[in-house]
Amino acid sequence: MTPDLTESSRDPAHALLDETVPAGEPWLRRIAKGQVFRIVDLEGNQAVDTVFFAADDPDEHYSLTHTIQAQGGLYLGVGSRLMSSEGRPMLTIVADTCGRHDTLGGACSCESNTVRYALEKRAMHSCRDNFMAAISAGATGLGKRHVASNINFFMNVPVTPEGGLTFADGISAPGKYVEMRAEMDVLVLVSNCPQLNNPCNAYNPTPVRCLVWEAA
Ligand SMILES: [Zn+2]
Repeated sequence: MTPDLTESSRDPAHALLDETVPAGEPWLRRIAKGQVFRIVDLEGNQAVDTVFFAADDPDEHYSLTHTIQAQGGLYLGVGSRLMSSEGRPMLTIVADTCGRHDTLGGACSCESNTVRYALEKRAMHSCRDNFMAAISAGATGLGKRHVASNINFFMNVPVTPEGGLTFADGISAPGKYVEMRAEMDVLVLVSNCPQLNNPCNAYNPTPVRCLVWEAA
């Protein structure tokens, strides 16, 4: 399937918020209904693990199963509606210059690094650590139990004809971006993945840029 690549006409100079998330760091912000959120893969091949929550009720969160079911497909791209655990659209992807975003790979953790790679990887920083650090620092009402399934923007996890998953080399490149419109007030929780054991970050985690524009 050829991805639908759609550029955005939004000008970063007019963004409400324009922040760089350093390699391996978390980012947590509130985005109001109608506002548009863009993530830019500044140097290429960087996985951006992302969870969304309904801003006023974090028990409602991004749902992998509702999203896949709603669009009848595994990968995210232009037109994808990111659905909540209550079956409501949270955000809609409105522009994308990468063409591949993963729904299935999950977020790395101390446990998965230990099981997949080696016991001595236990102390390595992980996306799960980032999620916990961000929610404990912010007064958002989010707790450990709220962190559910996540999206991996810019990550390439092809599904084989037999149904297998592989963490493949990325297809993203410097400056590729994905942009989405909030359909409700949301909290966005990002881990700019610090993973060094598989090619999801090309073995070299790099910064990303997060921008938010006011509702049209
Ligand atoms: Zn990770």
